[in-house]
Amino acid sequence: MSQTNNNKSYLTVVDNSQAPENFKPTPEMKATWKAVYKQFRNEFGEAIFRSWLKPLSLQACYHGTLEVSVPTRFMKDWIQTNYGPRILEMCTEKDSEISRLEIVVVQKAMPIEDDDDAASHVASPATKANANALAEEVELSSPLDARFKFENFVVGKSNALSHAAALRVVESNNMPFNPLFIYGGVGLGKTHLMHAIAHALREKSPKKTVMYLSAEKFMFQFVKALRAKDTMAFKELFRSVDVLMIDDVQFISGKEATQEEFFHTFNALIDQNKQIIISADRSPNDLQGIDDRLRSRLSWGLVADIQPTTYELRLGILKAKRDMLGVEIPDPVLEFLALKVTSNIRELEGALNRIAAHADVSKDPITLETTQNVLQDLLRSHDRRITIDEIQRRVSEHYNLKISDMHSARRSRNVARPRQVAMYLAKQLTARSLPEIGRKFGGRDHTTVMHAVRKIEELMEGDASFSQDVDVLRRALTG
Ligand code: ADP
Ligand code: MG
Repeated sequence: MSQTNNNKSYLTVVDNSQAPENFKPTPEMKATWKAVYKQFRNEFGEAIFRSWLKPLSLQACYHGTLEVSVPTRFMKDWIQTNYGPRILEMCTEKDSEISRLEIVVVQKAMPIEDDDDAASHVASPATKANANALAEEVELSSPLDARFKFENFVVGKSNALSHAAALRVVESNNMPFNPLFIYGGVGLGKTHLMHAIAHALREKSPKKTVMYLSAEKFMFQFVKALRAKDTMAFKELFRSVDVLMIDDVQFISGKEATQEEFFHTFNALIDQNKQIIISADRSPNDLQGIDDRLRSRLSWGLVADIQPTTYELRLGILKAKRDMLGVEIPDPVLEFLALKVTSNIRELEGALNRIAAHADVSKDPITLETTQNVLQDLLRSHDRRITIDEIQRRVSEHYNLKISDMHSARRSRNVARPRQVAMYLAKQLTARSLPEIGRKFGGRDHTTVMHAVRKIEELMEGDASFSQDVDVLRRALTG
């Protein structure tokens, strides 16, 4: 390799040079190039010059071809497409012999001022490694959780929109919306969906660069690049991807420089028709401390939310998770958990994992009792004084009714029976009198409440599964 004979050791590893070995540029050629180079600022503007054209450097000249180098493949492609034709024109204006511009990737560009003969074009095994440096850096992309796939994502009312949007992005070939912005509270499945998209896109198009990372990591990389005075590489890296996915973008609110960089990356990618997928804990409109331009750009595509979970979704997730764990957990336990742990899915999973782990160690079968014991601390933190409103809410959820059914005059069995259950629980679990309870149930008479209580007691005695149902509800309410 070209360790040269003096202090000017230029590592000129050429990726794709077409130049025969000794077509070094003549002094005339160098002068021509210098003149063209000097015009770049005027011709393209300061920003483009600094971002792209500055490192261009003359390598060789042969048969009317001018060969110039850049440090990375991405820059090569970008310059070729966007500025190549004009640069060639500029060269031809100076020297009509020049009819072709060849851009090559050279690890370290050779400065044109230099007349050192020792620099030579030597292809070496190091070449590929250098050319691939960018690709390797794409490892920047955070690792994906293998469990966070579409097939493990349970769909319910609360996340249906975001799920459908995510699928569209994966299945469609013409970018139905850009960017896709997914938002929702903590632990509701944003990251799961983002990973699912990334997995699926990589499977579908292995050649595409799908970069997924948290906004925090994006910022970290940017700050690192600033410190190393190497924002060029940073820009290139992020602008060279096919799909950019940034999780938890609220993290960059208030961080101006990062926002600015993100904004430019964002624009560059959109201009190149690259897909962007963003998640945040709130909608673009509600993001605080974020530049208005960025805010508006974030809402250009589709903004899809993930709402708080419903009882059905929680139960569905628990059942799916039970199948995955392969542990025997009776349905009433899952129902109990679905009623009880409503904050988010992460906590719900945590609760299930804990009882499964406990059963594994103790070898005891999992029952409502063991569940309550094992999760005592968790459940206690959820404890409040039980209200009739809460009873009505839980009972409605459990029987898939509207809360208004608790107050309504409807008397069909599938509404009336749950309503009686709720009255029964109100009598059992609160200190309210029968008339008070009656009033809370659409102004019913106290005798109606009394009748309900008796009826439910009677049914519970005769019907084990009904009795268990009520038991689940009672425990869910009392912890
Ligand atoms: P977020 O990023 O919104 O805070 P996560 O995506 O990290 O939430 O989800 C928290 C946990 O809940 C993860 O383990 C995830 O797999 C699980 N989860 C979330 N939504 C679902 C769903 N719809 N189906 C199955 N699991 C889910
Ligand atoms: Mg997340």
